[in-house]
Amino acid sequence: MAENDKDTLMQTPGLLGRVLDALPVGIWIADREGRIVYGNPAGQEIWAVSRFVGIDQYDEYKGWWHDSGKRIVPREWAAARAVSKGETSLNEEIEIESFDGARKIILNSAMPIRNEAGEIIGGIIVNVDITDRIRLEEQLRTAADTDELTQTWNRRHFYELLHAEIQRAERYQRPLSLIMFDIDRFKQINDTHGHAVGDQVLVFVSREVQNEVRVTEHLARVGGDEFMLLLPETGLDEAANTAARLHKMLAVRKFKPVGVVSCSFGVCQYVPGESIDDFMRRADEAMYEAKGAGRGQVRIAS
Ligand code: GH3
Ligand code: MG
Repeated sequence: MAENDKDTLMQTPGLLGRVLDALPVGIWIADREGRIVYGNPAGQEIWAVSRFVGIDQYDEYKGWWHDSGKRIVPREWAAARAVSKGETSLNEEIEIESFDGARKIILNSAMPIRNEAGEIIGGIIVNVDITDRIRLEEQLRTAADTDELTQTWNRRHFYELLHAEIQRAERYQRPLSLIMFDIDRFKQINDTHGHAVGDQVLVFVSREVQNEVRVTEHLARVGGDEFMLLLPETGLDEAANTAARLHKMLAVRKFKPVGVVSCSFGVCQYVPGESIDDFMRRADEAMYEAKGAGRGQVRIAS
């Protein structure tokens, strides 16, 4: 393309406006007081409106820093820093509430506009809506941590939780307990009723237990018919009570066509300084004591 053709093309009247209209990224122009004087369609869609307000009214914009969850105060907005201090900020991850009440996660950038004398005469603000991407990432992460059949945590994620909870228990000298339980004669259930019914029994037990425990307690399927329930802020007596409650609860619920599904439980409390393996081994030993003593009971580790 000849140079003068290119110049003609780039100088087409209204070209910049058409680019801004077509751009999937929000672009705002602010004057030297930070008053918004222009917003392209993508920007207006992100915020669900345009508000042509100055920095002193920036508290009309609801935003939070994504890391800390702290509310962004008016002078902290990238736009405010661009026009008042000449700062350029790139891709700050923030959560906003748009004017229709929707929560969104955006990458927010701003840079000053200067005249030929170098004085700040305004700012450019760029918003990229990454809500869908972040939500998808969260869904994928949850799926990677979840046992597909029972929707409890999987073994891998259980170790992460255990590690984190032990660190917390050590640091703040808080109690932490573990209940390990395993379905009694599960192989017989499979043999009698088929593998599909066996699967449903695993789902049934998981759901019944999950309904009985607190949201802060972590339930995981760590093996075929073997589960762990990690209880933060819980001492041995309380954990033993929880196991007894679960045992009693399962004894009165019937799952068709199997009937009552019983489990054997092993309970132990974390001893400061002990290894993850020792902690789990003590729960495991207590559980096998319950199996050895005839199944369908709770044993507490020494
Ligand atoms: P115990 O009372 O000693 O625990 O006896 P059990 O039969 O429950 O013990 P065991 O560990 O020998 O059997 C567990 C069985 O669970 C063996 C395996 O075929 C079955 N199993 C493992 N994973 C699954 C699963 O995802 N679905 C089904 N239906 N069965 C499974
Ligand atoms: Mg079993």
